[in-house]
Amino acid sequence: MRTLIFATGNKHKADEVQNFLGEGFALLCLKDVGITEDIPENEPTLEGNAYQKAKYVFDRTGKACFADDTGLEVEVLNGGPGVHTARYAGDGKSSEDNMALLLKNLEGVKNRRARFRTVIAYLDNNGRVFEFEGVVTGVITEKKSGSEGFGYDPIFRPDGYDKTFAELPLSEKNKISHRARAMQKFLEFLNK
Ligand code: IMP
Repeated sequence: MRTLIFATGNKHKADEVQNFLGEGFALLCLKDVGITEDIPENEPTLEGNAYQKAKYVFDRTGKACFADDTGLEVEVLNGGPGVHTARYAGDGKSSEDNMALLLKNLEGVKNRRARFRTVIAYLDNNGRVFEFEGVVTGVITEKKSGSEGFGYDPIFRPDGYDKTFAELPLSEKNKISHRARAMQKFLEFLNK
């Protein structure tokens, strides 16, 4: 059994990732390693943020760890909100606020192409850095549909589907999502 530290305080995410990694890995979260403060996340890219979080934890534990960062990249917004996805509508705003703002900014816009992108940064026990990316392409719908998932799921329809992420069962979303694809690459690397 290998132990890995996941630099997240998000229990939902940690469960999802533990599920993905399977029984060969014991996942520890931030509180399991005594880190209770908010980790700085102020880099201008997803890559920078993922690395910043993983490095912060590695510097305090000296043990292999990884972190992820995700952004929604909309073509006509030149890849925005991107690194600002979580706080698109401002600090302390909800996913509902974020979606409302995005739909407003895309009102009357024909090109609704977008993608979710996840970057995982992994530092091994020697502090060597590895990066894994997962992307799912699709469109931003005209209005919200569905109640599964979280974040922008009700307004993102992945290519090849006629449903939004929020209308798909989680098991289906987890086969094609940005996070699942990045995790798949990471897992292949770990199992090499
Ligand atoms: P994080 O880096 O995983 O915290 O993701 C940043 C933001 O992207 C979140 O606050 C969500 O709004 C959005 N997001 C990430 N993953 C998903 C997803 O699978 N569906 C919808 N929104 C997501």
